Amino acid sequence: MMQRLQGIGMTSRRTRERMVSRLSQQGIKNNKILDVMCNTPRHIFMDEALSSRAYEDVALPIGYNQTISQPYIVARMTELLLEFGRLEKVLEIGTGCGYQTAILAQLVDHVYSIERIWPLQRKAKSHLWDLKLKNVSFLHGDGILGWPERAPYDGILVSAAPSEVPETLLQQMALGGIMIIPVGKAGNQTLQRITRIQGGFEVEELEPVSFVPFLPGTEM
Ligand code: SAH
Repeated sequence: MMQRLQGIGMTSRRTRERMVSRLSQQGIKNNKILDVMCNTPRHIFMDEALSSRAYEDVALPIGYNQTISQPYIVARMTELLLEFGRLEKVLEIGTGCGYQTAILAQLVDHVYSIERIWPLQRKAKSHLWDLKLKNVSFLHGDGILGWPERAPYDGILVSAAPSEVPETLLQQMALGGIMIIPVGKAGNQTLQRITRIQGGFEVEELEPVSFVPFLPGTEM
């Protein structure tokens, strides 16, 4: 693994610089996010057969019918989440391969990450360990329940699309907290930013997106 981190890592730095300049052309402005994405090896989160494609702006398979989110969507969701300043506690639903988790972990105080497919989360944990990112807690469970024991959260980032925003997640937001979530059925999803305000929630409908569905229950 160390060899994988170093060997390919060295040659990928330039590839990551190209990825990041593409992201800024696509409108990503937050330099902290661009720096973190430039410094985080994305290829280690994928199977070796696909690692040469790790920096292309596409969603790639990570097994179990799931995909790693494309770099643009990771950057965009992170930018929307952090637009009004640094956050302390962030809940992520859908750890997947752990790449988005790794980006968040370098920008907020603590990440709480829930994944329903155990083998994906197990791999994600080991990648974060290899990168020495330790401010992350993992839960194997159904994201619809959130993680009430650790609530409230300043931020919630959801990487799979439910048909409606889960009420439990709204309840676990701190006052002033922000949730970034794709909502809707396949082919008709919109990215939303929800802010908890005194006495309610403010909803911004942002752009059309395409995420895997938010599924019930867990898999071992
Ligand atoms: N950010 C991840 C996205 C992976 S795809 C990455 O880039 O790798 C979305 C993930 O959400 C999948 O791993 C899927 O298993 C997970 N997921 C879907 N519904 C879920 C639920 N109800 N609770 C927890 N995780 C869920």
